[in-house]
Amino acid sequence: MCERNGWEVIRLFREEGESAKTADRPRLQELLTYCRVSKPRPDYVVVHNIDRWARNGQDHDMMRSYLIKLGVKLRSYSQRLGESPQEVFFERIMSGQAELDNKLRGERSLAGMKTRVQGGKWPFKAPLGYVNGRDAAGNKALLPDPDRAPFISQAFELFATALHTKEQVRGQMNALGLRSENDKPISAETFSRMLRNPRYAAILSVHGWEIEAKGDYQPLVSVEVFQRVQEILIGRRVSITARNRNNPDFPLRNFVRCGTCHKPLTASWSKGKMGVKYAYYRCQNRKCPSPVNVRRQDLEDTFSGFLRQQQPDASYLGLFHKVVLDVWNAKQADSVALIHQFEKQVNELKERKRKLMEAFVYSKAITREDYDQMRTPLVEDLAVAELNLGRARLDEVEVEKVLDFAENLLLDTAGAWQRCSLEQKQRLQQVLFPQGVEFADGLYRTQETSFLFKGLPSGTPINEVVGSATGNRTRV
Ligand SMILES: [Zn+2]
Repeated sequence: MCERNGWEVIRLFREEGESAKTADRPRLQELLTYCRVSKPRPDYVVVHNIDRWARNGQDHDMMRSYLIKLGVKLRSYSQRLGESPQEVFFERIMSGQAELDNKLRGERSLAGMKTRVQGGKWPFKAPLGYVNGRDAAGNKALLPDPDRAPFISQAFELFATALHTKEQVRGQMNALGLRSENDKPISAETFSRMLRNPRYAAILSVHGWEIEAKGDYQPLVSVEVFQRVQEILIGRRVSITARNRNNPDFPLRNFVRCGTCHKPLTASWSKGKMGVKYAYYRCQNRKCPSPVNVRRQDLEDTFSGFLRQQQPDASYLGLFHKVVLDVWNAKQADSVALIHQFEKQVNELKERKRKLMEAFVYSKAITREDYDQMRTPLVEDLAVAELNLGRARLDEVEVEKVLDFAENLLLDTAGAWQRCSLEQKQRLQQVLFPQGVEFADGLYRTQETSFLFKGLPSGTPINEVVGSATGNRTRV
C-alpha cells in the first residue's frame, strides 16, 4: 500500500502477543510517542485494519484526534480512510463495529469460563500448591505441585488442631521449605489468604459469579478440615492459643458446653450479698430452658473427677509405645535427610565463599567491586542455610524420655491437669476431648475421647467410679 502511494516506510511497530483490548499496549504507546517526537513527523500512520488499532470507539477517537493534532493522518490497508465527511463517518462505523466484535468475544469467553467452573475446572492460574497441567486424558487440569502440596496439606491439618497460632504454623512451613513462586518464604498475608482459599478443598467459587462447584481435581485438604480452619479463623471455634481471649481464672471457659443447649459456657466473678466475690461458670444463652450455673470450684473439681474416670486402655498403651516409635523412626529418617541436605548446602556455600575470596585476594582475578557484589548474596544465603540447619537439629529429641513422660501423663491426667499452667491445661483438654465436653446436672458427657482411653458409658456418675489411675484400674 505504501509503495503504491509512493510513501517511504520509516518504522514498523508490531505488537507481539499483547491483546488489543486495552490502549496501554507498549508498541502502540511507542508509536504515539514516535509521532510526537520524531523530526520531521511522519505524514501517515498505516494500520492493517482499524480493529487492530483500537478495539473501542473511545480509544479510537482519542488516538485519532491526538494524531490529527500532530498533523499525522491515519490510513488503513483494509478500509478506505480519509478526511472527507463521508470517510470520517465511515471510519466511525468501522471503529464501532470493532468495539461490538470485541465485546461479543468477551461475553463468549466469560460464558465459557463460567461453564468450565461449573464443570469442576479451574480456568485461571493455579493457586500455590498446584500447577496448571494436563490430566490422563490430556485435558487441562490442576495438578498438585509435588514440592509444595504436602506442606499446604500439613499447614491446614496443623492449624485445624487449634493448638498453634497462624504465625507458628507459617514459621514451621517456611522452615520445612515451603516457598512462594518467586522462591521466597511465605509472607503472613499470603499465608492468611491460603488458609481461606476454598480451592484447596476443591470448592470452586468466583467472587461475583454466584457459582459454587465441586472441583474435578485432587483436594489438598478435606472439606471438614477446611471448615474447621474457617471456624477457628473467624473465632467461632476457640483456639486455645488466643491467650487474650482466655482468662487465666477460667480454664474451662468456652471448652465445656451447656448440656441443655450445647452452647459454650462463659465465666465471670460475681459479688455475693456480703461483698464476697464468687467465680461462676454459666450458660448465657437466653433461650436456654435450663441454663447451667455452677460455682467454679464445683465445675473444675467435677472435671478432675471426670479425668480420673478416663482410664488408659492397657492394650492401647502397649501399642501406643510401638506406634509412636515407628512413626518417630520414619520421621527421624526424614529429619536426618533434611539435616544432611542443609549441611550439604552450608558446605557448598562456604566453599563458594572461600573460592571467591581466593579469586579476589590471591589470584587477583576479580575487582573489589565484583567481589563485594558477589559476596553479599552469598553471605545472606549462607546465613539462611545455617539457620535452617540449626532448626532441623533442634527437632532431634530423645524419644524415650518423651514417651516416658507421655505415659505418665496418660496414667494421671487429672493430676497433670491440676498442676499445669492455663495454656497447658487448655492444650491438654483439647487433645483429650477433641469435640469438647458437655455438662448438665453435675455430669460430664463427651462425644469423642482420645483413642487412648477406654470410654466409660457417658453420664456415669462420678461417685460410682473409684480407684487411682496409677494403681487399681478396675471399676468398682
Ligand atoms: Zn444452655
